[in-house]
Amino acid sequence: MALLEVENLTIQFYTDDGVVRAVDGVSYEIEAGETVGLVGESGAGKSVASRALLGLLEDGEVVAGEVRFDGRNLLELSSARLREIRGNEIAIAFQDADAALNPAYTVGEQIAEAIRAHETVTDTAARERSIALLERVGIPEPASRYTDYPHQFSSGMCQRAIIAIALACDPDLLIVDEPTRGLDVTVQAQLLELLEDLSADGEMAIQLVSHDLGVVADQCERVLVIYAGKIVERGPVEDLFYEPKHPYTAGLLASIPRIGDGRDRLASIPGRMPTRVQRPTGCQFHPRCPYAEAVCARRDPELVDTATGTPVDDGEPDREGPTTHAAACHEHTGDLEEGLDYEVRIVDSTDDDGCGESASDPGDDSAAVDNPSHEGELR
Ligand code: SF4
Repeated sequence: MALLEVENLTIQFYTDDGVVRAVDGVSYEIEAGETVGLVGESGAGKSVASRALLGLLEDGEVVAGEVRFDGRNLLELSSARLREIRGNEIAIAFQDADAALNPAYTVGEQIAEAIRAHETVTDTAARERSIALLERVGIPEPASRYTDYPHQFSSGMCQRAIIAIALACDPDLLIVDEPTRGLDVTVQAQLLELLEDLSADGEMAIQLVSHDLGVVADQCERVLVIYAGKIVERGPVEDLFYEPKHPYTAGLLASIPRIGDGRDRLASIPGRMPTRVQRPTGCQFHPRCPYAEAVCARRDPELVDTATGTPVDDGEPDREGPTTHAAACHEHTGDLEEGLDYEVRIVDSTDDDGCGESASDPGDDSAAVDNPSHEGELR
């Protein structure tokens, strides 16, 4: 049994414009000590799905599905029981750390408060542990920074403080939501190093939510790509990174800047994600997909094993095994007549002329998606 099993999670919001299905039948699992990435554009549903695990939806409603953590269905627990689990067994480090910290309390006191909320400890013990946590997340001179207020911290330090609060009670699962958003690249690198250290301990599972496939590829063992509330591709990170099977994943990869890939302009995926009130028919990605054929507008492709074409998601989490490389595209059900013709080009960052190595070279961490027949769309 996996530590976390999410099965057919479906979440709706009720707006003046109609019912919005923000998460639509998402299933996945996370083993103890594993780091799994949820990636997709803003509005894809990844943060909503993460908040729902802890009963933190403000307006939305879980209308179907189960979330089993350590064998218990979190969606059936009382608010009091869920409060005990929150922070203690599952913790979330929210995006926008500046807003998540209370400006009226010192950073140290906010960490100590998180400890005291779950454990009976003396003020001195809570203070000592808070200082140790500040040190663990890389805050310099933690004892003197304990009494600083959030406005005295930089954005990167605030993000670290939020992670320190999340770590206060040694959770079994840490959810980190967009940890690098809005940070400059140097601070991003420091934070990614911190996450790497945390996952290297091997004791805590991490669910990393990000719009940046590059960040996820760097940190995670497996990745789930979410588009318009559904998982459109999932599998081991190297499979997705070096051999993406869904055009959306290929588009996300192509939008990552790479040293040495020789492109004058970064790629972007044309169009926008559909509003969830007015959804397209068939494949949700078809209005933006350069490979769409008539069948794509008619039928919603199911998630299938990309090697065999057999369905992998029938409401059960990862029935064929969590490491199956699966994608929801008619290409892999045999219904796409013309096929996908992009190819992945792995670019050697030390190669001045931008000519790449073979796509099957997993030792190179610099990749770009090349799409000769659709230049300007996915490139
Ligand atoms: S099913 Fe069709 S529209 Fe959807 S991703 Fe595949 S080719 Fe594109």
